[in-house]
Parts: sequence; C-alpha cells; structure tokens
Amino acid sequence: MFELSQEHESFRKVVRDFAEKEIAPHVAQWDREHHFPVGVVHAMGELGLFGLVVPEQYGGSGADFTTLCVAIEELGRIDQSIGITLEAGVGLGINPILTYGTQAQKQQWLPDLVAGRTLAGFGLTEPEAGSDAGATKTRAVLDNGDWVINGAKAFITNSGTDITSVVTVTAKTGDGEISTIMVPSGTPGFTVEPAYDKLGWHISDTHGLTFDDCRVPEENLLGTRGHGFKQFLAVLDDGRIAISALAVGLAQGCLDLSVRYANERTTFGAPIGAKQGIAFQLADLAVSVEAARLLTYKAAALKDAGRSAKAVKQAASIAKLYSTEAAVTATRIATQVFGGNGFMEEFAVARFYRDAKILEIGEGTSEVQRMLIARGLGLPI
Ligand SMILES: Cc1cc2nc3c(=O)[nH]c(=O)nc-3n(C[C@H](O)[C@H](O)[C@H](O)COP(=O)(O)OP(=O)(O)OC[C@H]3O[C@@H](n4cnc5c(N)ncnc54)[C@H](O)[C@@H]3O)c2cc1C
Repeated sequence: MFELSQEHESFRKVVRDFAEKEIAPHVAQWDREHHFPVGVVHAMGELGLFGLVVPEQYGGSGADFTTLCVAIEELGRIDQSIGITLEAGVGLGINPILTYGTQAQKQQWLPDLVAGRTLAGFGLTEPEAGSDAGATKTRAVLDNGDWVINGAKAFITNSGTDITSVVTVTAKTGDGEISTIMVPSGTPGFTVEPAYDKLGWHISDTHGLTFDDCRVPEENLLGTRGHGFKQFLAVLDDGRIAISALAVGLAQGCLDLSVRYANERTTFGAPIGAKQGIAFQLADLAVSVEAARLLTYKAAALKDAGRSAKAVKQAASIAKLYSTEAAVTATRIATQVFGGNGFMEEFAVARFYRDAKILEIGEGTSEVQRMLIARGLGLPI
C-alpha cells in the first residue's frame, strides 16, 4: 500500500479546499487572540468530519480510519490547533463513547458530537499522573446510586469550550481498580479551571479540571467497571496514529511554504533555493515528510484491515515517534529558510514552530513511544 485510494485523494481535496478557504485567512488572528472558533467546529461538523468513523445510525458516514487521518493531516497543514480540535474531538471525545458506551449513552451523546454541535473531552492526565497514568489519584465512590468524584485532571483538550457537553474521566473506583466515568458539563462540583497560558496551540481549548464531591448517576460509568486503564490504552493507540497524521500535515505545510519562499527570496543575485545549503535541507525535509506519511498510513491501514491490536499498537508508536520528531525538525528548517521573517508571527512558519513541540509530548511522549516500541521488540523495559 504505497498510495491512498482515489476516494481518499478526492476527499483530501475537499478538506484542503475547506482549510484554505475557511481557516487559513483567519488563523493568525485567532491565534493572536487565543480565540476558539465555535463556528468553524460547526462547519467541520456540517462537512461530516466529526462523523467520519461513526456508523450512520449515529449520524456518521461509516468511513475508514484512513479517511479521518487524511482530514486531520489536511487541517494540520494549515493550522495545528484546528487539527487537534478534530483529532481530540473524535479520538478522545467520540471514540471512547462509540467503543465502550451503552446504546443509551451513544444515543444521548453521539448525534450532537458527530454533527459538531457539541464537543467532548477525555480526562486521563493528572497533576501527578501523566506518562505514569496508572498513578491516577482521582477517586469515585458509589453512594446512593451516584458516583461521587473527587480529584483533579490536568491539560484536558476541548474540556471548557462553550459547546463542551461532557468529559470522560478516569478515576480509582477501588484498590487497583480504575474506571471511566462520564461527567456532563455544568455538573455541580465539576469546575473547569481557567485556560492555560500555552507556548502554542493557542486556538485549541485546554483546561485543568477539579472535582469536589461531584455527583453523577451510577449509569454514567463508561464500559466495564475496573477496565478504565485498559480502555484508555486502546483509545490512545488510535489517537497516536491520528497525532502522527497531524504531524505529517505540519511537516508538509513547512515544506510547501519553504519551497515557495526559497523560489521567491533572492540573495547574492539568485533565489536562495539555488544554494545547496537551502535546497538540500528542503530535499531532506521532503524525504522525512514522505517517510512520516508512509508510516502514518501504514498504521492506519493495519487498523482498517483489522490487524491484531499488538501490530497496530507497534505501528502507531513507530509512526507517532517518527512523524512528531520529523515535524519539530521541519519547523526548525522552515523558520531558518525564512530567515528573520521566520521569527515573525506574520509568517505561518513562526506559529508552526511554536505549535510543533507539543506533538512530541501529547498522547504519550517520545520517551513513552520508545518504551512501547522496545517492549514490542520483546525487551524487558
Ligand atoms: C496542550 C496539551 C493538551 C493535552 N490534552 C490532553 C487531554 O485531552 N487529555 C489528557 O488526558 N491529557 C492531555 N494532555 C496531557 C499529556 O498527554 C501529558 O502531558 C503527557 O502524557 C506527559 O505527561 P506529563 O506532562 O505528566 O509528563 P511526565 O510524565 O511527568 O514526564 C516528564 C518527562 O519525563 C519523561 N518520562 C516519564 N516517564 C519516563 C520513563 N519511564 N522513561 C523515560 N522517560 C520518562 C517524559 O517522557 C517527559 O519527558 C495534554 C497536554 C498538553 C500540554
């Protein structure tokens, strides 16, 4: 599989057109103002982007995972915050409910999420439990038919927008037992803390959450009690392929902008693209974009083909590790090609430079990916 299908490529054009017309002209201002564009989320919903991997009965189109990766890549080529809003909206918001929800839970939450009318978050990380997510301190205790939740979550994407309807959180429900519980926005005792002051992803919504005797009905348990840890690990495997697609979009965006600039900018009587020092860097960048894309869509293809969870997990970690590190390098090359302009917010490569770093951290750091890949090789790490 070295090429995507005609359908995938036609769909790519639709999303590229949307991103260039509806997002590109406004994104610098949104980024400057840290503005979360709810209207764009609605428009992405109308385009069907949130429902790509969701069956028709919940308002989706039942497409494959590869199609979702194409959409994330194309949004990410224009802006990473918008790309992560879709990636997290589907991967962390919709996917857990779709995979583990009861009929009633799916019917209650999915139609609005799929239509882009609402967003959902997934709260796994805590102030003292990130890579070591099993160290969760948040507790949920059953009392009179309610879960009573106490604790805190950190860095939760899409958790505090005006249209966030629900956040799914992991909590200890017994000794050595972690479960996932759905907490609707506005539930008493559930506080969304002020937005973080971030290096990048200024358009993306990220908050800490606190739970202070927060009560939700017992039936808000998502999936099987005590299986929360296993459930989120599975959710993250898919998420890593999608983050890899987001990184490919970033690297491709850097390549496109740099090639154009290298043909236009003249020094010493010739375009800078005529100097080997620039041309060779862009040649190397093209190689890494191609390699990252192949690894990403290989992992997506394995998932779409229903290959074993072990095979998908390994391919997902390999793709995420390579693509995100390639994306960070791509932004360093692109800002260098742009010279002083690369340091100016007026040029998209400056925003890309700030946005890239988190790719090596979110949904499992590069170190965690190396650990997982080494485990997949059979090493006792
Ligand atoms: C903008 C943003 C959005 C996010 N969105 C979400 C979200 O929606 N939901 C959610 O649950 N989380 C989210 N996160 C959290 C993110 O997944 C975590 O920050 C990440 O997993 C790392 O955890 P940590 O920050 O606790 O770092 P730590 O785990 O404290 O790691 C610190 C450093 O130590 C390294 N390290 C840790 N353990 C090992 C080891 N065994 N071997 C080698 N090195 C190790 C790490 O790689 C890292 O370099 C988000 C984070 C950010 C910044």
